[in-house]
Formats: sequence, structure tokens, C-alpha cells
Amino acid sequence: MKINLQQLKLYREDAVYYQYNGQMDDGFLADNGAGLQSAVKIALTINRRDQVFYGTGTLETVIEYNCSRCLKGFTRTISPPLSFIIAEPEGEKDYEEEVLLLENDEVDITSYLQGVIFAEIPLSPICDPNCKGLCPFCGGDKNIKDCQCRNEEIDPRWEKLKMLNREGG
Ligand SMILES: [Zn+2]
Ligand SMILES: [Zn+2]
Repeated sequence: MKINLQQLKLYREDAVYYQYNGQMDDGFLADNGAGLQSAVKIALTINRRDQVFYGTGTLETVIEYNCSRCLKGFTRTISPPLSFIIAEPEGEKDYEEEVLLLENDEVDITSYLQGVIFAEIPLSPICDPNCKGLCPFCGGDKNIKDCQCRNEEIDPRWEKLKMLNREGG
């Protein structure tokens, strides 16, 4: 995704607006077991202040994850803010914002956007804060049915009884 800043550079405009509403390759999320479930909507304003260009705006899309507890797929809408600086390669200084470099009057925002989306993905996505997850013993989904495995494992009296049965058998 490239934005041409020639009009800004030539002082013909004080700001350029960039809108995008379309698909984006989501291969960069594959390692996290996530993907993009919808189009990506971007609304950006790029302002010139002295010799520096400031990009601000919003991104909105729907991410699909697998719950780290019950393994079911679920989706979440994200709408992180966009904020970055565009600088000429030779004019790069220390800025608080992320700096994207201008190349032939164009700036490519693709990898910046990927980074913004990537940062929204939790390490352990959870479909619901109350998700009970899968039973580690029988593999059943405890959100659907509460199995009795845990009770058997925890109660030491049952263990002793089982032992006696085995010895006696
Ligand atoms: Zn879950
Ligand atoms: Zn179980």
C-alpha cells in the first residue's frame, strides 16, 4: 500500500487523505494461528509540518483466532489508532513515533500496518474471560458439559481404594 506525497512535498497541499477499504494479505498472522476475517478499513491523514510528514488515522478490521483454552475459533473487531512519521532517508532523526521512509515521493505503509495489527493479537487469545477450556483428562469441552474427571483425580481416598482393589484383585 503506497501513498504518493508529491503534492505535499511541492507545497501544493497541506494535507493528503488516504482511504482504503479492501482485502489485505494475512499471511503475516499465520504463525500466530490468526487471520483476517474481513476487509481492512483505513482512514489516514498526512500533514506536513516544516519538512516532516505526520500520519494519523485509524484502522478497522476483524481478526479470527483460536481460543487458547477451548481451541474454538472466534472473532474480534480491532480498531487501533495509526500514528507515524514519514521522513526522507537522509533526514531521519530520533522521533517518538515509528518512522517510515519516503522513497521517490512515495511511502509504503504495508509493513507498518502489519505491525499495528500484529500488536493487537494477544499471546493467549481467549474466546471469553469465563471460558472453562478443555478437560486435560478426557478432552471434553467444559463449556458444554462438566465432566467428572477432575473429582476422581483430586480425591485421594479414591486412589487408595483403587490401589486396594488392584492389590486384592
Ligand atoms: Zn474458549
Ligand atoms: Zn473430563
